[in-house]
Amino acid sequence: MSQQRKQPIRTCIACRNTSDKRQLLRIVKGPDGRVECDVTGKHAGRGAYLCPTMSCFETAWKKRSLDRALRTNLNNDDYQRLQDQFGTLIESGVTGLGTVN
Ligand SMILES: [Zn+2]
Repeated sequence: MSQQRKQPIRTCIACRNTSDKRQLLRIVKGPDGRVECDVTGKHAGRGAYLCPTMSCFETAWKKRSLDRALRTNLNNDDYQRLQDQFGTLIESGVTGLGTVN
């Protein structure tokens, strides 16, 4: 039985849509507790996924979804800093593990 390798599917923590993980942006909490946008998708630590749209980030902010997903407490400064990173990544067309088509 030869099956094609399945793409890893992840759920956006804001809108709950599922998607190929390469289509989503990963936010990761590193071993030092610092939360960053993970451009490579390979950072160690607890991760959460978001669609690469500002509306999903804003939803996650409003609902504090990132706090829950990463089991941490982010203040507004943290969210603001992540939103800046997030916006830069979207603008440069980076999602997850790189360009898809
Ligand atoms: Zn989403």
